Amino acid sequence: MKEQLEKIEAKAKQELVSCSEIKALDELRVRYLGKKGELTAILKQMGSLSPEERPVIGQLANKVRADIEEALSSRLAALKSEAQAAKIREEAIDITLPGKKISYGKFHPLTKVENEIREIFMGMGFDIADGPEIDDDYHVFEALNLPPDHPARDTQDTFYIAGTNEKILLRTQTSSVQVHVMENRKPPIRIISPGRVFRSDAVDATHSPLFHQIEGLVVDKGITMSDLKGTLETLMKKIYGNECSLRFRPHHFPFTEPSCEVDISCFNCGGKGCSMCKDEGYIELLGAGMVHPKVLENCGIDSNIYSGFAFGIGLERTVMGRYDINDLRLFYENDVRFLEQF
Ligand SMILES: [Zn+2]
Repeated sequence: MKEQLEKIEAKAKQELVSCSEIKALDELRVRYLGKKGELTAILKQMGSLSPEERPVIGQLANKVRADIEEALSSRLAALKSEAQAAKIREEAIDITLPGKKISYGKFHPLTKVENEIREIFMGMGFDIADGPEIDDDYHVFEALNLPPDHPARDTQDTFYIAGTNEKILLRTQTSSVQVHVMENRKPPIRIISPGRVFRSDAVDATHSPLFHQIEGLVVDKGITMSDLKGTLETLMKKIYGNECSLRFRPHHFPFTEPSCEVDISCFNCGGKGCSMCKDEGYIELLGAGMVHPKVLENCGIDSNIYSGFAFGIGLERTVMGRYDINDLRLFYENDVRFLEQF
């Protein structure tokens, strides 16, 4: 019986060492120490022992039980700490890894410069006016002194809405907003109107059937050409810097009298002459002039009391000059490599 006990202890300890799971450890405990366990089975045979042998074997059995229990609990502790260590290893955060980059997006260069221009004009006391992109012939042409047979209409060929007898069309210029504003408001008027305009042009490096203009209109008593010059100079110096200079050339527009085209000293060469400005030193930027008395009268404003100036800035051209962009199509192709640069 003594040998049996020693054998059980040795076997139990051996199995314990190779046991690597807490659950399996519990099964071992039941198998050796449980009510139907191997040790208990031997103790049940104690009755067959002689009175001398009984205490000796009893003592040994208790020692074996205690030893197995101790081995079980130390193995359990070891397995628990191993499990804990494994869990910590598994959940460890590598703080040396680079973080995930969050992309914030950016404003489109056209939007960015348009916002800047809005800010500049709001600083000068202008309101932002909105107008319809689909408008009628009267507001886009006729009220602006462009009767149906006027040759200047040819340069503003646009998209007409089918079935409207060419009376409803996509506006060719933001100047139509002037008419809407003057019909609904009394002077003093000080507005800019940024927006999309449309012409049936084929797409190339400098043309697109859709582009953007910023219209400006001021109507009040005693407005003169010098107010127009001062306003445009303030704007351009804020956009292109104090070194830039403007050049006003006489021109003809049906809706202004006198009319002018405004050039800016070349962004590239500063006025010396280069390939960008075709050796002129200046680049054409916008059209402007004093509002034609007939346009004022068409909108119910007395031209004997009031005068005004108006201008139309091409947004694409302004942004191309600002950032040295040589192809208009880049604005609409939505290539992220291009857009990311602004
Ligand atoms: Zn130049």
